[in-house]
Amino acid sequence: MPDPNGFLRYERQLPARRPVAVRITDWREVYPPAGAELIREQATRCMDCGIPFCHDGCPLGNRIPDWNDLVRTGNWDAAVESLHATNNFPEFTGRLCPAPCEAACVLGLGGQQPVTIKQVEVEIADAAVARGGLNPHPVPASTGRSVAVVGSGPAGLAAAQQLARAGHAVTVYERDDAIGGLLRYGIPDFKLEKQHIDRRVAQLAAEGVQFRTGVNIGVDVSAEELRGRHDAVLLACGALQGRDTPETPGRPLRGVHQAMTHLVAANRVVAAAGDGRPAPAVLPDGMPIDAAGRHVVIIGGGDTAADCLGVAHRQGAAGVHQLDLYPEPPHGRDAERDPWPTWPWVLRNYPAHEEGGDRVFAVAVQEFVDDGTGQVKGVRIAEVTVERRDGRRVVTALPGSERELPADLVLLAIGFEGTEEQPLLAQFGVTRNARGAVDARPDWQTDADGVFVAGDMHRGASLIVWAIAEGRAAAAAIHSYLGGIGSLPAPVDPARQPLAAR
Ligand SMILES: Cc1cc2nc3c(=O)[nH]c(=O)nc-3n(C[C@H](O)[C@H](O)[C@H](O)COP(=O)(O)OP(=O)(O)OC[C@H]3O[C@@H](n4cnc5c(N)ncnc54)[C@H](O)[C@@H]3O)c2cc1C
Ligand code: SF4
Repeated sequence: MPDPNGFLRYERQLPARRPVAVRITDWREVYPPAGAELIREQATRCMDCGIPFCHDGCPLGNRIPDWNDLVRTGNWDAAVESLHATNNFPEFTGRLCPAPCEAACVLGLGGQQPVTIKQVEVEIADAAVARGGLNPHPVPASTGRSVAVVGSGPAGLAAAQQLARAGHAVTVYERDDAIGGLLRYGIPDFKLEKQHIDRRVAQLAAEGVQFRTGVNIGVDVSAEELRGRHDAVLLACGALQGRDTPETPGRPLRGVHQAMTHLVAANRVVAAAGDGRPAPAVLPDGMPIDAAGRHVVIIGGGDTAADCLGVAHRQGAAGVHQLDLYPEPPHGRDAERDPWPTWPWVLRNYPAHEEGGDRVFAVAVQEFVDDGTGQVKGVRIAEVTVERRDGRRVVTALPGSERELPADLVLLAIGFEGTEEQPLLAQFGVTRNARGAVDARPDWQTDADGVFVAGDMHRGASLIVWAIAEGRAAAAAIHSYLGGIGSLPAPVDPARQPLAAR
């Protein structure tokens, strides 16, 4: 029986982040482990409210009150089992999820701070490793059916694990040189150290999943050949088509990059240093990857922008401005606009923000300024208002508000326009919709029979928790398509949307 008064005895508390002055000198994760006692107290704050809205907030349907109580009572092995029943990779979500479950926690309804669900989750996930490692669960019998998974991000990996555990022969094809999708070279080590991915890849390999890196499907292996090798195909290629701003004067200047161009290169440098390998020091335009001593301007306000900010700090940038088109969001939930238990529009402060840099809201770039040699030397910005008119976004600059910020390196983190246009699409006979995503029928098949889609490629740029949920659900559909015995869990259907008021 959970403790109904735990939230009255204990305040919400997260572990202290490593000191800024220390952590910006390395690439290690920002959060140290919380310690068993703090986590037991925090799990005790869950009162098992009876109608756990956190279940609906979490696309995976994680059994949050169950594992909170198991942690409270010290049943760590059972907590590990309960968590893994719904989430293949809680060490990823526990570190990286923005935790819509916490926005839906019933404590928030009564003006209390929500349970630190995500922190409890990561501690359980890490306890699994500490208490004997991530044991593989190979199945003795094979169904004789085989599945190709294209793309090794969290959607592809979750599907691969579910299908392998159901007895299917699974091969994951990845065009990059390492497995993990955006978790590998998109998300910096200070948010996710890469041993967490390596451990899971080892577990999946021990469960029979075959990994083929450096294979670009549609280029190195045709769709026809892949379909000839396998009984079903899952496309989980992500949504990596970065939005650009070609109309802004000065966009072609040296030093103005897509954020991912810089971020991926910087993360590769960290990976290479960890492995003792040499790494390229320059970007495609010859600019150094290292931002040391340079003025950096990051355009955009989301995860990618915050990750660029943390990277710039660690590279020793002389100064960083992060620009956002929209006004500063409220610091707490606006109940009129976003009533509980929906995901609220609030100012999100990432650890990178406490490390430095200036955030500038309600501004738009008017011009990237040339230093006379084709290299950017500044960014001319204006204060703006943003309105919706006839469903369209209208941005109006305020006269006389223009000013220039110094900039040697400008990073465009203004979102993604869906999955990349690449040969694989036409070869499989699937098309991108108006959002640049690939539609799925209710059973996760694309327009091409036997070809399924999941993750960002289907949903558009989203979150890891959605990618895992879609990977699990698509695996269930593939299992059924292949005539597998019984059914696999399907936490979401293709039409499922986050809890929202509007
Ligand atoms: C910088 C950044 C930071 C983020 N931070 C967070 C965060 O903190 N929390 C969070 O929840 N979400 C975050 N996200 C979003 C999250 O990373 C994605 O939603 C998630 O990774 C999507 O998973 P996926 O499996 O659908 O695709 P991806 O992770 O994008 O993986 C797709 C894979 O498919 C491969 N591929 C593509 N085409 C082919 C082909 N033809 N052949 C073979 N392989 C192919 C790609 O190389 C890639 O490895 C972040 C995103 C970015 C860009
Ligand atoms: S995966 Fe995300 S939404 Fe689900 S329980 Fe964990 S932190 Fe909450």
